[in-house]
Amino acid sequence: RTAEWARLVDAPSISKDGQCFEITANIGTPDDVNDVIKQGAEGIGLFRSEFLYMNSDHLPTEDEQFEAYRRVIINMQGKRVVVRTLDIGGDKPLPFLPLPREMNPFLGYRAIRLCLDHPEIFKPQLRALIRASQYGPLSIMFPMIATVQELRQAKQIFNECKAELQVKQPGIGDDIRLGIMIEIPLAAVNAGNLAREVDFFSIGTNDLIQYSFAADRGSDAVSYLYQPLNPAFLSLVKHVIDAAHKHKITVAMCGEMAGDKWALPLLMGLGLDVYSMSASTVLRTRSMMSKLDTRECRRVVTDAINNCSTDRDVKMLVKNSLNIK
Ligand code: PEP
Ligand code: MG
Repeated sequence: RTAEWARLVDAPSISKDGQCFEITANIGTPDDVNDVIKQGAEGIGLFRSEFLYMNSDHLPTEDEQFEAYRRVIINMQGKRVVVRTLDIGGDKPLPFLPLPREMNPFLGYRAIRLCLDHPEIFKPQLRALIRASQYGPLSIMFPMIATVQELRQAKQIFNECKAELQVKQPGIGDDIRLGIMIEIPLAAVNAGNLAREVDFFSIGTNDLIQYSFAADRGSDAVSYLYQPLNPAFLSLVKHVIDAAHKHKITVAMCGEMAGDKWALPLLMGLGLDVYSMSASTVLRTRSMMSKLDTRECRRVVTDAINNCSTDRDVKMLVKNSLNIK
C-alpha cells in the first residue's frame, strides 16, 4: 500500500474511467506547506488565515501578512493557493479586538460579517493578498457568505484595494480568482445567483452540516447529527454542484467530508471538481479515486438520493455496490 501510494505522489487525480479531478490540501500555517508537497497535493484548497491573527498580540500589519502569503505561494512552486479571508469572531476571540458577547456565537458577528464592518481589518488583508499574487497563482475566498449583497460588498472592497495598488503597479491582482465558501444553507439554496458573481465555490461541509441540522459542531451531545451521508444533505450538495456547473464555474469542497472515504464515490458521482483535505489523506483518496468508475458512482448517488431515507442506508448502499472497505 505504501509503495502504491508513493507512486501516486506525482500522479494526476483520475478515476478508473479516465475522468480528471483535483485533490488539494487544507493548511493552517505556512509551515504546513512541506507536508503538502510531500503528500502530492495539487495545490492548497484552503489556507485558513486565522493563525496570523490568533497568534498575535496586535492586528497583523499588511507587510506581515504579505510575507506569510508570499512564502506559501513561493513554496508551492506554481501550484494554486486558495486563501480564505479572516474567519473569526464569536467562539474565536481576538485579543486586540473587543467583540460583543453573544448567546449564539456561531450565528453571530463573525467572518465576513465582521470584515465588512471593519475595513481597517479587511483591507490590509486584501492588499497583502493582492501584492502576494505576483508570486504565483492565487485565489481568494470569502467565508460565511449568506447573501448576494454581502458578496457584492466584499468584491467592491477587493476592487477598491486593487485599484489603489494598480496606481503604482498596473495590472496587479488581475489574475486573482475570487470565490466563496458555501457553508450557510441559504447560500446553498441560492447557489445559482451566487455562481453568476464568482469564479468558484468551495463547499464548507463542517459548517454547512452544522447549520443544516441545527447542531453545534463542537457539541458531543448532538454529534450524532453530523451526517454527511444523509440523503437530504446529499441533495443539497447536488444542488450546489449543478448550479455551479450550469454557470460554468468550478466547485470544490474543503470540509471534512471531502476526505471521507464513504462520501468520495458519492461526490465523484455528483461531479465535484476539487477535493480539499488534510495532507495526510491526499494519497489514500487519490488511490481510491483511481479504482472508482464515475458512471457507477453516478448510479449509486442517484440511487442514494432517490431511494434512501437515512445516512445508514446510504452507507450500506455504498458498501454493497462498490468495493469499499
Ligand atoms: C467548513 O466549515 O467546512 C470549513 C472548511 O471551514 P472551518 O472548518 O474552518 O469552519
Ligand atoms: Mg467554516
